[in-house]
Amino acid sequence: MSTRREAGERIGFVPTMGFLHAGHRSLMALARPLCDHLVVSIYVNPLQFGPDEDLDTYPRDPAGDAAACAAEGVDTLFTPEDLYGDDHCTTVSVTELTDGLCGASRPGHFDGVTTVVARLFGLVQPHIAVFGEKDYQQLAVLRRMVRDLAMAVEVVGGPLIRDTDGLALSSRNAYLSIEQRQRGLSLHRALGAMAAAASSSAADRLAIGREILDVDEVDYLEIVDAISLQPLVRIDRPARAMVAARIGTTRLIDNIALD
Ligand code: AMP
Repeated sequence: MSTRREAGERIGFVPTMGFLHAGHRSLMALARPLCDHLVVSIYVNPLQFGPDEDLDTYPRDPAGDAAACAAEGVDTLFTPEDLYGDDHCTTVSVTELTDGLCGASRPGHFDGVTTVVARLFGLVQPHIAVFGEKDYQQLAVLRRMVRDLAMAVEVVGGPLIRDTDGLALSSRNAYLSIEQRQRGLSLHRALGAMAAAASSSAADRLAIGREILDVDEVDYLEIVDAISLQPLVRIDRPARAMVAARIGTTRLIDNIALD
């Protein structure tokens, strides 16, 4: 990509783990008019999976992914086999923003994310990189990494895309049975009710959400400051309701803005 950069082309980048759906495609569509050359990467990054997580079973569809990228006008589809040499010994770690939420329930996860994205940025050398608000904490963490390390990349956030029934699109939805998917809709229903409630008390709104959630285990249900991701008692500034929950062995996340 460095010759393209030197020729004055603006490089756009959408990193993914593949099994592409309309959520990923919305990021490509967002990036397309913002750049001359659009790169999408597909790499199931072992560093961001815990030992008991779904690295080995993560869904894959190389032919469908290539077709999706072609339909979105992607110029380069980057599908590395392995991104780390045996002697790789560098970890990029953002603190504080990663203490709570998914950082608390998935130790080491965000170090894996920031390390792979930093490495991908080094390889692709993008001017802009687009990430989804579906992974709201990840977006905040990556913005901070770019700011703190003065990386010459503009991070753009794209809105969370839902299926017609309201379930946040995710490659992991493929794991859900029909019954589990019905219960999975309770995440969106809970967040919607929390957003619609009139009370400025976080406790009141959390109680409303908890009542609606129909899952096997709640990892977290929190109302946080939209920037710092610190839990709020009163909703007196831009806030986000964030949820992670397990249905069977599948972990789902979702979030919504509280205005
Ligand atoms: P993943 O393949 O899950 O690592 O996701 C790659 C990128 O797509 C990340 O920036 C995600 O936040 C984004 N993404 C995944 N699902 C959605 C969705 N439903 N809406 C918007 N962006 C999404």
